[in-house]
Amino acid sequence: MKLTLTNLRKILQCSFRLKCPRCSKGTLFQKHFTMFSHCTECELKFEREQGYFIGAMYINYGATVLLTFPGYFILDIFTSIPFLFNFGVWGLVSAVFPIFFYRYSKSLWLNFDYAFNPSS
Ligand SMILES: [Zn+2]
Repeated sequence: MKLTLTNLRKILQCSFRLKCPRCSKGTLFQKHFTMFSHCTECELKFEREQGYFIGAMYINYGATVLLTFPGYFILDIFTSIPFLFNFGVWGLVSAVFPIFFYRYSKSLWLNFDYAFNPSS
């Protein structure tokens, strides 16, 4: 698939709405951390192979690093808050943010993978 702005918009919309990449209607999660095995609308199997969502862990890690490191340095440069407070704030953010972003990282991984490799 060729990545265009239209395709990218659809991928990001489905990802952040936690919707199925094929039909855009079925939801990915039945509870906060529990994912459906298949789409409730089109029966697309979400976990394509064992260990499929390892890539989602990389997305979650990358998003956490992209949030916390610049956040730490921006606060360090532009404010006069003590080092330990700044370090503690971003340490706490780096512990809590991945829990919040868990579902979105899985959805991003699934939607981007399906966009580039829909047949498997
Ligand atoms: Zn579906």
